[in-house]
Amino acid sequence: MSPRKIVVLGYGMAGARLADEIRRRDPDGTGIALTVIGAEPHHAYNRVLLSAVIGGTMQPDLVRLHDPGWADEHHVDLRTGVAATDIDRDRRVVTLDDGSEVDYDALVIALGSKPWLPPVEDLTGEDGLPAPGVVTFRTLEDCERILAVAKAGAPVAVLGGGLLGLEAARGLAGNGNLVTVVHPAGHVMERQLDPGAGRVLARILGTHGIDFRLNASAARYLPGGGLKLDDGSKVAADLVVVSAGVRAETELARRAGLTVDRGIVVDDTLRTSDGRISAIGDCAQHPDAVSGLVEPAWQQAAILADLLTGTRVSARYKGTRVVTKLKARGVDLTALGDPHTDVHDPDAEVLSLTDPTGGRYTKLVIREDRVTGAILLGAPDAAATITQLYDRGLPVPADRLAVLLGRALPSGVPAAAGPADLPASAVVCRCNSVTKGRLVEAFRAGATEVAELASATRATTGCGSCRDTVSGIADWLATTS
Ligand SMILES: Cc1cc2nc3c(=O)[nH]c(=O)nc-3n(C[C@H](O)[C@H](O)[C@H](O)COP(=O)(O)OP(=O)(O)OC[C@H]3O[C@@H](n4cnc5c(N)ncnc54)[C@H](O)[C@@H]3O)c2cc1C
Repeated sequence: MSPRKIVVLGYGMAGARLADEIRRRDPDGTGIALTVIGAEPHHAYNRVLLSAVIGGTMQPDLVRLHDPGWADEHHVDLRTGVAATDIDRDRRVVTLDDGSEVDYDALVIALGSKPWLPPVEDLTGEDGLPAPGVVTFRTLEDCERILAVAKAGAPVAVLGGGLLGLEAARGLAGNGNLVTVVHPAGHVMERQLDPGAGRVLARILGTHGIDFRLNASAARYLPGGGLKLDDGSKVAADLVVVSAGVRAETELARRAGLTVDRGIVVDDTLRTSDGRISAIGDCAQHPDAVSGLVEPAWQQAAILADLLTGTRVSARYKGTRVVTKLKARGVDLTALGDPHTDVHDPDAEVLSLTDPTGGRYTKLVIREDRVTGAILLGAPDAAATITQLYDRGLPVPADRLAVLLGRALPSGVPAAAGPADLPASAVVCRCNSVTKGRLVEAFRAGATEVAELASATRATTGCGSCRDTVSGIADWLATTS
């Protein structure tokens, strides 16, 4: 019997991971003939690490997810630098912009999302693309453009004070740029933070040389001059970095007649309204997934690979408990669940502590004895404890203050006690869903260094924020084995 033809549209973080997952289950390609189509001209890379590229702490060639020989080694028909332009669902054929066609038995759409350009006069040219001196922040090419213009000392405006805007701002400030963040809301990262946390965060970032214009919108881009704001004031800038949010890439799906809302609508099997077509990652819309993050995209890739290869036909995607971390040097910020609960809410316990001088802000929201939201700024011990409680749905210890201060683990063991006290089920690498138990297993099988643990389990290969914990576990195992 000839192998089933699976075509993956999009060779970004979700598409590349899906291809890996399929080949883990069907290594020789005997069951599945796999074609991957990517519009970018190079191999897939870890987009999450682009903030580190901007900040100069990571070289661009270190962020790639696949080596140049990956496709040949894994029997994948990989086509880069070519975009899909049309899906003919009757003929089961995808047309590419080089004029060629690819037919499929099953199609997966993993086209990600694209930066949103706000309606600011002259920000874009007639072609709708960013004007000279304006750059979005999504691709390796964007990073190259930003670094080419943002020489040390040059003023840069960042349009958007969300997670990515702040990561870009911190990276550029670290490079010696004079950075001003222009943000329409009253505080930064308003999706994840409440006003109190936003104020403390802006204060910390201010000490790193970043200025903020809050409650302000850009009215006009002044080529070579910066931005004119809606109150008539100006922000001088040689470069404007736009980080005003993303929109799911849905155009192709919409034209093919698939059900599209904010994203391509999928069910628990990640199928779209056409049973032969699935969607994963930023372009997909599942009722319980928070879009725009890599953790759900990679979980979806694993589940879809189970389904497409028939390895686990009962696999279902049921949503992701997302924990957000800001990757900005000198700032330790974790936000999880829904922290936007008022202290007067009768159905919730809300604890918070503000220490602007110390750069700390912690807030914990508890409902029915479980963590439902938290903001942990400058509080890494509390972040570790509360993330565990949240992940595992455990009851919050009675001494709530000790939890908020990071002085209690679920078991009541002091938080400072270290890796030995983490339960085996604790998720260490969120991006890849790797538990401590899995790391211990890999260590015992011979992966004793962080790099070896990374290649055995994939821990640390996402956003990289678990690296110290993985290293701590390796050290602890080395001394106890
Ligand atoms: C700077 C930055 C930092 C981030 N930090 C974090 C973080 O800390 N934590 C986190 O969870 N998430 C983070 N994200 C978000 C994360 O990168 C995305 O959620 C993830 O990349 C989604 O994967 P995806 O494959 O769905 O989309 P993408 O990675 O965007 O891949 C989609 C691919 O499809 C290609 N494509 C589009 N149209 C076509 C077409 N017609 N034909 C062929 N190919 C096409 C695109 O070129 C792209 O290569 C960050 C994103 C950025 C930009």
